[in-house]
Amino acid sequence: MSDRTPAAAEIAAEVQAIYRELAARPLARQCTGISECCQFGRTGRTPFITKGEALVASQGLRASGRRNLPPSVEGACPMLKSDGKCMIYQHRPFGCRTHFCKAAGGPAPREMVRDLIQRLEAIDARLGGSGGVNLPAAMKSSLG
Ligand code: SF4
Repeated sequence: MSDRTPAAAEIAAEVQAIYRELAARPLARQCTGISECCQFGRTGRTPFITKGEALVASQGLRASGRRNLPPSVEGACPMLKSDGKCMIYQHRPFGCRTHFCKAAGGPAPREMVRDLIQRLEAIDARLGGSGGVNLPAAMKSSLG
């Protein structure tokens, strides 16, 4: 699915609504943008993302003027810029908002986000997905 088709726009709106609901929840989290969690080689953890999240992340990447997955520094997320900032921060996946940074508060309690994850999984199933895929591979597939 192109990220500019009407169906893609609806899916993206659903995913963005989930992100807004997450932001409105009383989770003790404070991302300061230190990008520690974006160093997969260092943390040993790579976010797994659903097709809807990949679609939104792809839209963010296109909005930044890029058409393809950027080359990444060994062990780092390909969305991480050389200045240490995320190039798709407003479009970053759910896991980047909830799971991967000690400094930001550590993993969000599962019971606080389970319903949102289930909605992302339901969108993934509607798009023919079968669960989360590691971020670089999911992005590559979404960008086509
Ligand atoms: S998408 Fe952005 S926030 Fe998420 S790991 Fe990559 S650089 Fe970090």
